[in-house]
Amino acid sequence: MEFISTRGNVGNIGFIDAFMMGLGNDGGLLVPAQIPQVSEQTLKEWQELSYQELVLAIFSLYTNGEIPEQDLKDLVYASYSTFRDPEVTPVRKLKDDLYLLELFHGPTFAFKDIALQFMGQLYTYVATKQGKKIHILGATSGDTGASAIEGVRGKDGIKICILHPHGKVSKVQELQMTTVLEDNVLNLSVDGNFDDCQRMIKDLFADLDFKATNHLAAINSINFVRIMAQTVYYFYAYFQVAKQTGAKQVSFSVPTGNFGDIFAGYLAKRMGLPVDKLILATNENNILERFILEGVYKPGDFRTTYSPSMDIQVASNFERYLYYVLDEDAAQVRTLMDQFKAEGQIVLSGDALAKVQAEFGAHGVQGTECLETIKRYDSQSGYLLDPHSACGVAAADKYEQEGSVTVSLATAHPAKFNEAIELCGIEQTFPEPIQALFEKSQRQTRVDGSLDAVVRELVAFYNN
Ligand SMILES: *Cc1c(COP(=O)(O)O)cnc(C)c1O
Repeated sequence: MEFISTRGNVGNIGFIDAFMMGLGNDGGLLVPAQIPQVSEQTLKEWQELSYQELVLAIFSLYTNGEIPEQDLKDLVYASYSTFRDPEVTPVRKLKDDLYLLELFHGPTFAFKDIALQFMGQLYTYVATKQGKKIHILGATSGDTGASAIEGVRGKDGIKICILHPHGKVSKVQELQMTTVLEDNVLNLSVDGNFDDCQRMIKDLFADLDFKATNHLAAINSINFVRIMAQTVYYFYAYFQVAKQTGAKQVSFSVPTGNFGDIFAGYLAKRMGLPVDKLILATNENNILERFILEGVYKPGDFRTTYSPSMDIQVASNFERYLYYVLDEDAAQVRTLMDQFKAEGQIVLSGDALAKVQAEFGAHGVQGTECLETIKRYDSQSGYLLDPHSACGVAAADKYEQEGSVTVSLATAHPAKFNEAIELCGIEQTFPEPIQALFEKSQRQTRVDGSLDAVVRELVAFYNN
């Protein structure tokens, strides 16, 4: 297994090199040179595996044997030992034909932990094995930052800097990041929105000199390892639900921001998992809904919503999907991405759009619909959804079809987003680790939204 870039100008590289490169050196995104195929027979064998065993089986298809088997096993078991549920990602029945895949049992109560606990282990492994300095740099709409910091706090050889949009993350998200006081952690609170933060990160990674001199490593979902780790729970959920319902195929509804999580579902399908529809749920920042329904990928005006982790207009993983819709034609991806940069939009029509619509459904959930969904499931099913998961469930309900089973991804615990829960007139008790955050002291550095200001802080942090 080797990795190549969606823009065609990164030679075939191995797993660890792809992990360390993050964004492709040609500005594209790294993808496997061929998607590994899982046969029906293998699917049958995988049905009975524990979550950790399944992780190992799937990762082994991608890691090239570059990590000795026992080492990989140790990394995987350490990664998921921090989860509060023995199943790691348990599935719950919400009502007939609708299941919830709970992805929030990790240390920071959101699904990002599933990939980032492993990536934290893997960065530490590489730093130790190769005696390397690793400086993790990323932007967050709230959850990635907390997860990534949690994964590497206090680890030797590793520094981490996270940019978050000032005042645009939830209180709990902010506390989870800024109450970590280890010296290897720098939180920059940026005047701007998430897209501004993400653009600066992309610019810094595109500057190959700066990237090499400063040992930069990426934790955003531009890193293929995140996608790979997230394919696992699609398989796991499918096996649990198929066992309970006898369904041969299931659909997934996925609350979407950067197109990372749903792309993992698409990859699982391309590997051979019997997935019916992938339903893409957005909030009012609905560029991806418009792309799927109309074929036009064009950022609109940024909106602040009840589901801040999905407040994204430029979806960095979209390019991976584009690559596959265009039958892996890297030259065409390059042309379209250049056009996007120059004209601010990409338009698909004809066969390409028909292909998109055959695979995806989409629903943009407005604020009132989000809150009403939370209230309805709280009173009718006694299940408290967080606002992101509620977008997924609302979209699943819209696509509900007699006799077809849907798994909706519950991406965060409601305690992380109490602002929205309070608006529903619902009082919740916080889990102890979240309650404890309110007593801790915080540290963060506020910066204006310029790249210069960010670079100044970074250089001081790296030289310290
Ligand atoms: C990050 C996040 C999302 C969106 O995931 P993408 O991979 O960016 O599409 C949805 N819900 C929550 C709670 C998140 O943290």
